[in-house]
Amino acid sequence: MTMNDGSSLRDIPTGTRLDPWFNAYAARAHGLRSSEIRALFAVVSRPEVVSLAGGMPNIKDLPLEELAESAARLIRNHGAQAMQYGSGQGWEPLRQRIVDVMAYEHIKGDPDNVVITTGSQQALDLVSEIFLDPGDVVLAEGPSYVGALGTFRAYQGEVVHVDMDHDGLVPEALEEKIREVRASGRTIKFLYTIPNFHNPGGVTLSAERRPQIVEICKREQILIVEDNPYGLLGFKAEPLQAMHALNPEGVIYLGSFSKMFAPGYRIGWALAPHAIRDKLILASESAILSPSMVGQMTIESYLSNFDWFSQVQTYRGMYRERKEAMLESLDELMPDCTWTKPEGGFYTWVTLPEGLDAKSMLPRAVKNLVAYVSGTAFYADGRGGNHLRLSFCYPTPEDIREGVRRLSQVVSAEKEL
Ligand code: PMP
Repeated sequence: MTMNDGSSLRDIPTGTRLDPWFNAYAARAHGLRSSEIRALFAVVSRPEVVSLAGGMPNIKDLPLEELAESAARLIRNHGAQAMQYGSGQGWEPLRQRIVDVMAYEHIKGDPDNVVITTGSQQALDLVSEIFLDPGDVVLAEGPSYVGALGTFRAYQGEVVHVDMDHDGLVPEALEEKIREVRASGRTIKFLYTIPNFHNPGGVTLSAERRPQIVEICKREQILIVEDNPYGLLGFKAEPLQAMHALNPEGVIYLGSFSKMFAPGYRIGWALAPHAIRDKLILASESAILSPSMVGQMTIESYLSNFDWFSQVQTYRGMYRERKEAMLESLDELMPDCTWTKPEGGFYTWVTLPEGLDAKSMLPRAVKNLVAYVSGTAFYADGRGGNHLRLSFCYPTPEDIREGVRRLSQVVSAEKEL
C-alpha cells in the first residue's frame, strides 16, 4: 500500500504510532525490539569490515560432499518418512542418539524426557511460554545471552541479573538476589544459566560451584534452565558434569546441534522433568506441530554414520587457534583493557578503560573497519556500557589480529577524546 506521502506501509517502523496496526497489537508485542546484534548485521557483512561481532559457527571444515551424499541416500531410501509430519515430541531414534550425546556430559537421560525443538532458541521460547506470566522474574547471569533476554521480554518476564566472576555465577550473589526479589513481592520462575563457555562472558561455572548452585535452587524451589550449546567445544579439558546430572528433577537442560555440528538444520532439544516435558510437547505442537523430519533424520544419520566426535575435535582445534590469536593480540595491543580467558566456546568479554563507552564508540570502530557488540546488548537493565563482546569463531586468525589492531587504535583515540 502507498501512503499519501509516497512512502509504503513497509517503510513504517512497527511499534510507533505511525504504524496503522499500533492499537491492534497485543500488549506483549510492544516489547518486541530488534537486538543490537541484528542492527549490526548490514555493517558486519561488508567484506572490508573485520567482524568480531557475530557468533556464527565456523562450518567451513564440514565434509559437505559426504553430507550431500548422505542426504541424497536418506531421501532416496526413506523419503516418504522424511517428507512427512512427525511426532510433536520429536523422532524417537534421534531422541535416543541425543541421550548418547548427553552422556559425554555425565547426563543419564531418558529418551522419553527429550523434546526436540527448532534450535534451542525454540526451547527457550517454549519454556518462557509455559512458565512466564507478565512481571514474573527470571534470574540470569549479568551479562547474559541476548537471544534469551529477547525471548523473556517477549513473554513480559523481567530479568534480574546475578553477578558472575571468572568462575561463573556467584552462589552468594544468587542467594542475595533471591532474597531481594522475594522481599519485593515478586515471583521468581526460574534461573537461566549458561554454565559452559558463557555467551557473552567467556567463563565457565567451576566444578565446586555447580553443586552449590543446584543446592540453593533446590532449597529455594527454583527451577534451573541450563542452556548448554557450547558444552562439547572445550579447548582442553573434557566437559564438566552438567547441572542436570546433579538434580534431574530440578533442571531443564537445553542442548543444540548448532555449534557441535551445523545450525542450518535448526535442531536442538530440551531434557526436562517428566511433567514439564508434557507441557513442552503441548506448547511445541501448538507452535509448530512437529519439528522438521528431514532435519531430524539427517542429524540422526550424521550421528550414526559419521565420526561426529572427531568433527567436534576438529572444531575444538580450529576455535582454540582463533582464541589464541585473539588473546595474544589483546595482550600485545590492548594493555589498558581486561578480558576473560575462555576455555572453550566463541567469546571473550572485554572491560574497557574506565570512562569509555562501547556503544558510543561503535560507529568510530566501524569507521575503522572493525565491529564488536556493545556490552549493553547483554543486559536487560541498560548496564554493560563499559564492556564489549568479541567473537573469535568466524574470522581467520590473521583477520582476528588485524581486527584487534584496528580496535586498539579506536580505543587509544577514544581515551584522548
Ligand atoms: N543459547 C545460547 C547461549 C546461544 O549462544 C545460542 C545461539 N547463539 C542459542 C541458545 C540458540 O541456538 P540454536 O537455536 O541455534 O540452537
